Amino acid sequence: MRKLFICAAMLLGLGACTTKESMDSKLLTNLDTTQEPGTDFFQYATGGWQNANPMTDEYSRYGQFDALREKSKEQLKDLVLEQAAQKSEPGSNAQKVGDLYNIVMDSTRRNAEGTAPVKRYMDEVASLKTKGEIIPLLARNYRVGIGGFFGTYIGTDIMDSNSNQLGIYQGGTSLPEKEYYSDTDENSANIRAKYQEYIVNMFKLHGFTAEEAQQKMNAVMAIETRLAAKHLSRVERRNPLNSYHKMTYAELKNTVPGIDWDTYYSILGIEGIETVNLAHPEAIKEVAAIIDDTPMDNLKAYLEWKVIRSTSNELSDALEAETFAFYGTVLSGKKVQQPRWKRALDAVNGSLGDIIGELYVAKHFPPAAKERMTQLVKNLQVALGERIDAQEWMSAETKKAAHEKLNTFTVKIGYPDKWDDYSKLTIDPTMSYADICRSMSEFGWQKHIDEKWGKPVDREEWHMTPQTVNAYYNPTTNEICFPAGILQYPFFDMEEDDAFNYGAIGVVIGHEMTHGFDDQGRQFDKDGNFANWWTDEDAAKFNERTQVIVDFFDKIEVLPGLNANGKLTLGENIADHGGLMIAMQAFKNATKDNPLPIIGGFTPEQRFYLSYSGVWAGHVRDEEIRNLTKSDVHSLSRWRVNGTLPHIDDWYTAFGITEESPMFVPAEERLKIW
Ligand SMILES: [Zn+2]
Repeated sequence: MRKLFICAAMLLGLGACTTKESMDSKLLTNLDTTQEPGTDFFQYATGGWQNANPMTDEYSRYGQFDALREKSKEQLKDLVLEQAAQKSEPGSNAQKVGDLYNIVMDSTRRNAEGTAPVKRYMDEVASLKTKGEIIPLLARNYRVGIGGFFGTYIGTDIMDSNSNQLGIYQGGTSLPEKEYYSDTDENSANIRAKYQEYIVNMFKLHGFTAEEAQQKMNAVMAIETRLAAKHLSRVERRNPLNSYHKMTYAELKNTVPGIDWDTYYSILGIEGIETVNLAHPEAIKEVAAIIDDTPMDNLKAYLEWKVIRSTSNELSDALEAETFAFYGTVLSGKKVQQPRWKRALDAVNGSLGDIIGELYVAKHFPPAAKERMTQLVKNLQVALGERIDAQEWMSAETKKAAHEKLNTFTVKIGYPDKWDDYSKLTIDPTMSYADICRSMSEFGWQKHIDEKWGKPVDREEWHMTPQTVNAYYNPTTNEICFPAGILQYPFFDMEEDDAFNYGAIGVVIGHEMTHGFDDQGRQFDKDGNFANWWTDEDAAKFNERTQVIVDFFDKIEVLPGLNANGKLTLGENIADHGGLMIAMQAFKNATKDNPLPIIGGFTPEQRFYLSYSGVWAGHVRDEEIRNLTKSDVHSLSRWRVNGTLPHIDDWYTAFGITEESPMFVPAEERLKIW
């Protein structure tokens, strides 16, 4: 029976079958059957996983997602070590990967060098004589990966999605969000106090006296607090128009005359500017005001801080440990740093991602996985089309435009057709790690300009490396992308049946597709332009309907006295909802002629929802809950399950959940969209 059992999906090439044993073991070990599904579905579906996989000290949250990332790190490590072990030609990719990995691993050398490798950047700041020298210094530093005051880069013009444009963005603060500078609750005040200690300690490690360090910290805090006050919040930035102020270059100079833009961009290597997007005018005007009215010594303290902060993980263990104590422990609750090999791997992966990616897909991504994913995506696309048609609140006119958008999705699966070229990058093992970081940043900046400045948008570009365990939707190219890294258990498993795969990767695909139709994505048309394709009436109905889920998440208490942010997480919550609706529809389509059997006592529909929830199995620390609630557009894992499923009618049917259950939401209060 086991061996002869072939499901319809397999015949169609969509997903393989499984034996009873393997399904039992994978899903049942995740469960906590002492819990009632309608009381706490997250615990019911994932409690067993949490029991078997305790939180580890190096994590602030640890779940199945992270377990896959761990597995993938082991795979990448083997690839990197193979490269490092080769007797390779200088200048070859293998030499670059191997030497970079070894340099990051060589803590003895970095401890001996101390802060010397960045001394010249500190000295440069100290030797500034006039305020006129600040902008040239900012530009020189920006080229080599040392930030300050604001950011600039070339990106898609949302009003003309085939064109690249130069943008100027808020920046220059070192706490994750503007609220960290102003929130008055005890926790936020405590984090600020710890941040100040961190700044003082870092200045001391760079050789300043306690008194100097204290003074410099006060100057840094004053400047960063002023910057943060003029920044847009994450919720404000969710509206694309809030970050769009296109103007001529002459208008930029009139709007912010306090910054010498000609000098700035000439040093950055950008010439012939006609228009810019001054994305965040108030923040950039404030930069000019700060430079104008702040004493020179305080400005220098701030610029020194940016050197210190930008290079804090490139120098000695002491600096790295101090940085971890604040960003890892205070902000996120982690107890210990990741072992050095993981940090070295992250550095290689972050800077030479495509070299590793090419090796990774050759070894770990079978062509059959790509074929199956391609088919799965097609099935999800059909299902989303059916879901669009099923919406009674939407006019035929808007539906037609929605179908057009859906039919023009670009789908990227596995890995790109062309790989990044690193031939112009030199990694010289005699240089310090910090100097290598400078040259890698400069290489990256030059590549950015060469590829984008004065060029049309490259729609073939990938915004994630293939080894990334994630997926994305990009509204300006109307594309969905699923890197090879996510096409593994617990998201995708060639050995598992359709109930499992549609519940996991199927929902991921549906999630990314729904981003094209969430509160942000719906404002972009099929060509990726910010353009309204909705009738006024339909747009009003969309907003009215999605307000339901804003209100629902606003009421969720994530910690005593701390509520989720429904506005911040709206797009992601819509995408989770849509993902579930579309994937279930596609699953029903795929299995309608050959229904799947009950396995391990669970119906196919139940296994679909258990599989979805299993993706989010995991632990999270209180510190990280606070951090994510301020800064993450995604809901916490627990609430991606317990907040989302009560809005899915079919989930009630699958588990027989009634109004007696604590998770029950009356039908008229459920989100009804897609
Ligand atoms: Zn998303």
